[in-house]
Amino acid sequence: MDYLPVFVRLRGRTALVVGGGQVAARKAEWLLKAGARVAVVAPQLAAELAARAARAELAHVAAPFAPAHLSGAALVVAASDDREVNAAVAETAHALEIPVNVVDCPELSSFIFPAIIDRSPVLVAVSSGGASPVLARRLRAQIEASLPARLGALARFLGRRRTAVKRALAPEARRAFWERLISGRTATEVLSGNETQAARSFASELRRTDGAPGEVWLIGAGPGDPDLLTLRALQLLQQADVILYDRLVPDAILERARRDAERVFVGKESGEHAQQTRINELLVSLARAGKRVARLKGGDGYVFGRGGEELEALAAAGIPWRVVPGITAALGAAAGADIPLTHRRLAHSVTLVSGHAALDDSLDWRALARPQQTVVFYMGVAQLPRIVARLRAAGASGELPAAIVERATLPAQRVLRAPLASLAALAAREQVAAPALLIVGEVTALAPALAAAAQSDDPGLSRGQRPAIVAVA
Ligand code: SAH
Repeated sequence: MDYLPVFVRLRGRTALVVGGGQVAARKAEWLLKAGARVAVVAPQLAAELAARAARAELAHVAAPFAPAHLSGAALVVAASDDREVNAAVAETAHALEIPVNVVDCPELSSFIFPAIIDRSPVLVAVSSGGASPVLARRLRAQIEASLPARLGALARFLGRRRTAVKRALAPEARRAFWERLISGRTATEVLSGNETQAARSFASELRRTDGAPGEVWLIGAGPGDPDLLTLRALQLLQQADVILYDRLVPDAILERARRDAERVFVGKESGEHAQQTRINELLVSLARAGKRVARLKGGDGYVFGRGGEELEALAAAGIPWRVVPGITAALGAAAGADIPLTHRRLAHSVTLVSGHAALDDSLDWRALARPQQTVVFYMGVAQLPRIVARLRAAGASGELPAAIVERATLPAQRVLRAPLASLAALAAREQVAAPALLIVGEVTALAPALAAAAQSDDPGLSRGQRPAIVAVA
């Protein structure tokens, strides 16, 4: 570690900026935000600094830099466009042991400015140690996107209540209380701008002493690519005490969860029914033990995800829950394979169907076989020949375009296309394996044209996101 990140209190102290241009103005702005008394040493000031000086927000020392200017300064920034002046500032500051930053010159600096996210009082500072300011700024943007806009308001809200909590709770109980508060209703209300409601919720949380139940978050993990998690899914995954996850959730997603969270695999390999009962019981018992449980499911929990059944069990046990939607596999596959699910010329509706239903007579196959629509079959790999046969028996043409998207949005994504009549043979030859979706409809024939047009080398897209069309029958 070449630098120690610290936050310096500058309120009321003198900070010196040497230089009167744009760069100096940027630095002066941060120093003013931190409450410093800013003095700018420069023979002349450019417009922005001059305006601030005219409003008496800062003091202008209208002279070339001289060592005497540094007396009484808590910190100095050399931001002139003259290298020699900057070097002289650095030398004097070093001699007086005053922290100095020379803009764009880490060698002469004793401190450097990080890329800053200001959600005061919450501050995030990112630095690449001068190696790549652009990288640091990119990281800042990524972190910023994952932070709620009202984070500062939340910190202030909590800060104002520290004394009350200290008085009400024993030291050992406080941390759990804050954790619960931050991930519960109170924080959600503050983050949505309802502080009155939040204050009420806080008061009732505080009255409810120890033994408060935990809660369950039913989180849709999306189709597999971790970048397709929602921001809320990510925020909650980073707070969960326990994570119950399915076979469809890849490691790359689990890696984004809180490091010390307990992870429980509850994939349904066999004995489906018994397993679901066991999951329901586990959710209830963990929440009763006060845990915040993330129930992480592939895609969206309410699309062939049995989310409804788990929530019934929670409701019966009086456990609070929250549902976070995820990108369902059909949407992931559509985007990953360039198949628009609706299209003004070709499809006016899209239907999501469980392939298991091919085994019984619960579906209206005549309706599914009609033109001008897209039908997406989940869990259909094993039933593929039967699905095709049923569609054709119900009037679908053997020429109707169809596609199979295997491991949609994952690095090993494959897209297979064929008219309905030869789809099953193609899938058998290519040994299609779960998870895969079957998409039936004219829109699937658009994919190659769109994919060809998108073959530009867009550096923003990894290879896995481009459809690998491995086979066309
Ligand atoms: N709740 C999930 C669906 C669970 S059912 C969702 O909303 O996506 C499991 C089926 O989803 C699989 O058999 C497969 O048909 C489909 N599926 C899930 N992830 C997939 C992926 N990455 N690629 C293709 N199909 C997927």
